[in-house]
Amino acid sequence: MKAKAARPLLGAALFAGALLGTPAHGRAPYDASTGAPRAGTPPIMVVDLHVDLPWQVHYKGRDARLTEGHAPVEGLKAGAYGGLVFPIYLPDKAHKDGAHIEDADAIFATIEKIIATNKIFLPLLSPQAEPGRISTFLAIEGGGAFAADITQIDRFIARGLRLVSPNHSANTLLSSSATGKKVKFGLTELGKAFCERVYDKGALIDVSHLSDRSFDDVAEIARRHHAPVVATHSNARAVADSPRNLTDAELEVIRETGGVAGLNLHAPFVSGGQDATIDDVIKQVDHMVKVAGIDHVAIGSDFEGGITLPQGIDGAASLPKLADALMRRGMSYDDVLKIFSLNALRVLGWRPPPVFPGQTSPPPP
Ligand SMILES: [Zn+2]
Repeated sequence: MKAKAARPLLGAALFAGALLGTPAHGRAPYDASTGAPRAGTPPIMVVDLHVDLPWQVHYKGRDARLTEGHAPVEGLKAGAYGGLVFPIYLPDKAHKDGAHIEDADAIFATIEKIIATNKIFLPLLSPQAEPGRISTFLAIEGGGAFAADITQIDRFIARGLRLVSPNHSANTLLSSSATGKKVKFGLTELGKAFCERVYDKGALIDVSHLSDRSFDDVAEIARRHHAPVVATHSNARAVADSPRNLTDAELEVIRETGGVAGLNLHAPFVSGGQDATIDDVIKQVDHMVKVAGIDHVAIGSDFEGGITLPQGIDGAASLPKLADALMRRGMSYDDVLKIFSLNALRVLGWRPPPVFPGQTSPPPP
């Protein structure tokens, strides 16, 4: 069953990769000496690991036709989006006792409405990518609600959930947060059981909002499951000192496990100050690539998540400009393509390794 379920997503990822990998005009799409894109070069496709559109529509009253904000449909088109992850964001303050699993169901319905309203989006779990349309993937951000019954996560994985973070800004019964009250624990016992379950069922834990201790606990479980450690929307702490960013040691774990860190475009997470420029974004990319490696950096913009954009970036439509800036700085077209889509597609297509007859679990790492 598991192997069979893996095929559609992996198929979509490989199909998209094949689509992207070969420039249509058969020659290098950038000038080797200057790194500048040649005239007529199609923009590099984006697969974004974190776009908070469901929050805007569900909680902020935005029209599901997505005609405004930093990532409207027209902006996604202009940005050459080929895929994005819609998070079910469960606010810590949804109710007095935090978010409930029913809230996740309600936001899931909103995501389905957004997808149904805009033809550009392919439905969740679509078997193949389609040129000109945007593949959609599902995540949960702030999964503490599932402490009430961790088996309920199975329903969401069956509906396409690829990534789940066990907390958001505050600590939960599952884990301690990067921005929560200081505590001695990372994952709780229940949190460990939750993460085991998520990997067993073929989805991934998102470490972006976790404390460093929770990160370590997740990494230990991920390694046992041969799973990549993924931070969907976090930068390098060595460049911008925020607990929401990743230490160099954490970026190395991401590299070793085949995971990715998604470049977050919130100015304070980019530069460490209130403002940022495209140059600051490039500094982040340079450092993340230096420590984690070119195969382990992706885009996790955090557009529509109430972020402050760097100067020169107006939203989704500006991503081709960022790609150009990276190529002008000497990064190859192929490397930019990895960061902008291929690395994200690899982790979105992850499934647990097969268990062969006579074995009870995958071989040890
Ligand atoms: Zn977030």
